[in-house]
Amino acid sequence: MASLRDVVVVGSGPNGLTAAIELARRGYSAEVFEAGDGIGGGARTEELTLPGFRHDPCSAVHPIGVGSPAFNAMPLARHGLEWLEAEHALAHPFPDGTAALLTRSVDETAASLEGRDGDTYRRLLAPYLGRWDNLAHDFLTVPWELPRRGPITLARFGLTGLPPVSWLLRRFRGERAKGLFAGLAGHVISPLNTPATSAIAMVFALGAHEGGWPIARGGSQAVSDALAGYLRELGGTIHTGVEVKRLDELPPARAYIFDTSPTAAARIAGLGDAFRSFRYGAAAFKLDYALSGPVPWTSPDAHRAGTVHLGPTAGEVDTALRAAVAGRAPEVPFLITSQPTAIDPSRAPEGKHVFWVYGHVPHNWRGDLTEAVERQIERFAPGFRDLVLGRAVAGPPQLQARNANYVGGDIACGAFTGLQTMFRPKPSPHPYSTPHPAVFLCSSATWPGPGVHGMSGHNAARAVWRRLRTADRD
Ligand SMILES: Cc1cc2nc3c(=O)[nH]c(=O)nc-3n(C[C@H](O)[C@H](O)[C@H](O)COP(=O)(O)OP(=O)(O)OC[C@H]3O[C@@H](n4cnc5c(N)ncnc54)[C@H](O)[C@@H]3O)c2cc1C
Repeated sequence: MASLRDVVVVGSGPNGLTAAIELARRGYSAEVFEAGDGIGGGARTEELTLPGFRHDPCSAVHPIGVGSPAFNAMPLARHGLEWLEAEHALAHPFPDGTAALLTRSVDETAASLEGRDGDTYRRLLAPYLGRWDNLAHDFLTVPWELPRRGPITLARFGLTGLPPVSWLLRRFRGERAKGLFAGLAGHVISPLNTPATSAIAMVFALGAHEGGWPIARGGSQAVSDALAGYLRELGGTIHTGVEVKRLDELPPARAYIFDTSPTAAARIAGLGDAFRSFRYGAAAFKLDYALSGPVPWTSPDAHRAGTVHLGPTAGEVDTALRAAVAGRAPEVPFLITSQPTAIDPSRAPEGKHVFWVYGHVPHNWRGDLTEAVERQIERFAPGFRDLVLGRAVAGPPQLQARNANYVGGDIACGAFTGLQTMFRPKPSPHPYSTPHPAVFLCSSATWPGPGVHGMSGHNAARAVWRRLRTADRD
């Protein structure tokens, strides 16, 4: 008979690996089972187009990863992770060739905005600058668990962050600041009048000033490889190419942690309709390009930025997001783009480039957004199409085929809507527990939600640890 493991983790995304690490670090045996041929889930790197062009099919830019309390408590640099930063974290260009900027410097960012908007920006961020560590800890761990490190800062942040970003935009006069903030909030696929979208925009802005918006040298796979290297050092094991379909296929364990969608966890672990009310949201449409040269941006600032948002005005961003959520493909998509080879030439053959782009489409959409995406890029970088050597296109069905967690192409593994915005996967004092006492959930379907930061894994590991410790004492 197989020996009893302490912890078995299903899925090797950043949250699954983080949960396994944190329990292994506390002395428990941890074994990870991954459906894919390689580890990493949403933090991987592959030659998707042509030989020598190394693309990130999912995450590329890591403002929360670099400031993650979970990652920063691990020796990931020793396991090969090196963060690289562009001169500007973000450029938000306009068709006239100018751009609003987000850089390490608050002054430089403020100076890129119009008139008094720079001062408004400074005033908005001032209470939180230099307080990232406490704020990240308080915001990214379970909000109602004590103790808090900076309760007053957290309360203030909550008051500013809870309203929709459309309210925050009213503080600004010019289109540069409004467009910049709309684009930041647009990282969740929800209209700008969605509650709590101010917090999203604020976290991304603060992240730029406090830790930057770095990419990983060699690609996002380096994040997963570093996590896996540390887990193995702690004695953990990882099996790839094993799609878990039933709980009884797994070795016997004291706790099972699912880095999967709630729906998959319920199906596999026989949890019935435990997550029946959970909602998946609109989808991403992802394009990875192999280019013969750098993107020919009209804006000089865009050449020096790691990330470039294409959707100049808040109105355009909102229209594109609203269409995707309402079940229509956007005519003019809002695009989030990243140009890794601007700072990491190792990703492509000499003189060549990779370019990472996604827009937003309805849940489970089956169409092709490529033409609309390239029209939008050409608006800010005329001549772009002439540089394309190869492209890998992934709409919702392909995204879900790559990773079962992207249900219907929803890269957040759960809609950003209603109570589910804060109470993921559902309102509960124990959000990482399930009706089965040995089964836990740690994916981005749980608080604090999507992103490569491992904090859902961290929070779930604490819940599992409490359960195991209590059982050990009894
Ligand atoms: C196009 C795109 C762009 C993104 N951009 C960014 C970005 O720039 N920055 C950022 O921080 N985040 C980004 N993200 C989001 C980020 O990738 C995810 O939020 C993050 O990876 C979630 O981590 P996770 O551990 O919860 O799950 P995942 O990373 O999704 O990992 C889950 C793992 O579980 C495995 N699995 C699922 N079911 C089973 C099963 N039954 N048996 C075994 N294994 C199973 C999957 O194969 C997968 O490997 C992006 C995502 C996408 C798709």
